[in-house]
Amino acid sequence: MEGFEIRISNTKKGKGLYATKQFNEGDVILAEDPLVSCQFAWNAAYRYLACDHCMRPLETPEQNVRRLSAKPDIVLPHSNCFETDLLNITSCNQCGILYCSEECKEISYAKYHRVLCYIQSETQHPVNVLLETWKQIHYPPETANIMLLVRILAFIQQHSDPESAAATIKQFCHRTVNEDAELVHKLLGDEFRSQINTLREMTAHVI
Ligand SMILES: [Zn+2]
Ligand SMILES: [Zn+2]
Repeated sequence: MEGFEIRISNTKKGKGLYATKQFNEGDVILAEDPLVSCQFAWNAAYRYLACDHCMRPLETPEQNVRRLSAKPDIVLPHSNCFETDLLNITSCNQCGILYCSEECKEISYAKYHRVLCYIQSETQHPVNVLLETWKQIHYPPETANIMLLVRILAFIQQHSDPESAAATIKQFCHRTVNEDAELVHKLLGDEFRSQINTLREMTAHVI
């Protein structure tokens, strides 16, 4: 990738991406894998099937519509337009979580899943306790999932060099709160302060 540079915009905005050449409409400027990602908690609770690492859907649009509508005989047009290969679906040998491919399974285990592998039906497992608390605080429409934070902490913990992993994460941190209204995570408001402390304590039990 070329044709851009990253530099500090100003102290308020932090880093910015600046074009160093003319781009045409439709050009790909930048593509990169996320450090970690995860589904929204309520999405997962309603059994939206997605790869636990890359979020590719593990059901066809037709299966998705049938599940959500509870109408097993709905037929969608153009079903051959679906591109994800469902034949490579695999799962973690220990906890059974689903992946779209062996590659996602291996990357996930190497990056963060080793310390987060647990049997999901154990309702009293610290991850489940945290997740349930989060869901009760944070009803849809969801803007974030605390599991992102848990995965970041797991990434640091199981890294061969935790300090450099933490440094990688810290380069994304500029400000905790963005005053530009909608982008502020609801939990960062003053009225949610006690909930933040609860979530912090629960997260400490996970990692
Ligand atoms: Zn995947
Ligand atoms: Zn597992």
